[in-house]
Amino acid sequence: MNVTAQSVWNNCLSFIKDNIQPQAYKTWFEPIVAVKLTDNALSIQVPSKFFYEWLEEHYVKILKVALTKELGENAKLVYVIKMENTYGNKQPFTEKIPSSNRTAVKSQDVDIPLNNKSPELKNPFIIPGIRNVKIESQLNPNYNFENFLEGDSNRLARNAGIAVANKPGGTSFNPLLIFGGVGLGKTHLAHAIGVDIKDKYPEKTVLYISAEKFTQQYIDSVKKNNRNDFIHFYQIIDVLIIDDVQFFSGKSGTQDVFFHIFNHLHQNGKQVILTSDKAPVDMQDIEQRLLSRFKWGLSAELQTPDFETRVSILKNKLYRDGVEMPEEIIEYVAKNIKTNVRELEGAIISLIAQSSFNKKEITLGLAKDIVDKFVKNTKREVSIDYIQKVVSDYFQMDVSTLQSKTRKRHIVQARQLAMFFAKKYTKASLASIGSQIGKRDHATVLHACKTVDNLSSTDKQFRKYVEDLSKKLSL
Ligand code: ADP
Ligand code: MG
Repeated sequence: MNVTAQSVWNNCLSFIKDNIQPQAYKTWFEPIVAVKLTDNALSIQVPSKFFYEWLEEHYVKILKVALTKELGENAKLVYVIKMENTYGNKQPFTEKIPSSNRTAVKSQDVDIPLNNKSPELKNPFIIPGIRNVKIESQLNPNYNFENFLEGDSNRLARNAGIAVANKPGGTSFNPLLIFGGVGLGKTHLAHAIGVDIKDKYPEKTVLYISAEKFTQQYIDSVKKNNRNDFIHFYQIIDVLIIDDVQFFSGKSGTQDVFFHIFNHLHQNGKQVILTSDKAPVDMQDIEQRLLSRFKWGLSAELQTPDFETRVSILKNKLYRDGVEMPEEIIEYVAKNIKTNVRELEGAIISLIAQSSFNKKEITLGLAKDIVDKFVKNTKREVSIDYIQKVVSDYFQMDVSTLQSKTRKRHIVQARQLAMFFAKKYTKASLASIGSQIGKRDHATVLHACKTVDNLSSTDKQFRKYVEDLSKKLSL
């Protein structure tokens, strides 16, 4: 009988088929093509470098057994990696090209003796399953809809999230972009949608990833020359959740690859969920074509929760932790921590911890101490806008008056005080302070700082201004 690459490989295949799971056989062996047989070396063509790494990692033993049976002790296996076209302008990624027609741009031979130690699985995109390729969702089950309390501040975003979870890819909220300030629940809501989808549609592939990690993976894939595997991996996902997309700012390579992945998913009716700390109109250094995609679906804002919502969030947290706390203390915390749910929870957690470590009763006094610490910490990062607001309020004038060109003495003084505090409490440069406080230059700011120093040591009334304002700004 005539021994050909094909016949040797067919014999190997029937042996392998009997020894592994049908699904694995279909995935990993059917796509292989035997291409050449020379002496005792069989060359097989595999679709990608990743494919070869996977075979080496998982099937090197069975390959060795099969091949030695056919070709004897000195059998060798040579992998020929079929490189696919890179997605560029030449080949639009939306066009489906049957793999048999795909032209190999270049092929690369990898000659591996079978007794080689299997190389590590380097592909970061796939978590090795036992007999199947499985993608782990990376979802946190603790972040669900049940414990994401509804209020006016989040009603739209929360309900849009529920709608998306009921019909991923099937609503007009695609992409769903959730935006809002830090600690307002973007990450929580994004997970909740994913968790709910996994629950309702277990067969769907859901993936949560931070924009930062996505960027890192992309950079790695370029370094390792498997950008295509990266793209393919993301294109098979049914529900893609990317957290903090503002991280893509200024990263044009990542934006480009995301643009292609996004288009592919969108055209195939897959759901994309994004979060950002800014509304699309305020995002900087993000390409226009990407921003316009963000606006295709729904942008829903998470605002700061009102008092009632803050109280219910706290009560819910306490209830889940099995801790009881007097109503007046809960209300005190909710009244004083307004802008960040994470801090709201943080204050309650410290309160519980303090009281249990020191065996102290939870009193209003203890609550005040702890809340003070939280509030102080946040206020320390004052902005120039905030300083101008505080100074104008103090002198009962508008911010625009403070910034105006007028030379009226009391207005000039207010402006100089704002500059002085901006220098003292922010890291901004003199030039930047000047441009933000009425478009002045850096010399004006420097002069203002000196004047305030001088006046506060010679003028009692002026010193009082400085002291009052310091208190307001540092509390
Ligand atoms: P972001 O991603 O916007 O910075 P997170 O999603 O990390 O904020 O939320 C911060 C914390 O606040 C989390 O512990 C989250 O569970 C909690 N949180 C935010 N909003 C709510 C809400 N509506 N109900 C319950 N917990 C919330
Ligand atoms: Mg977050």
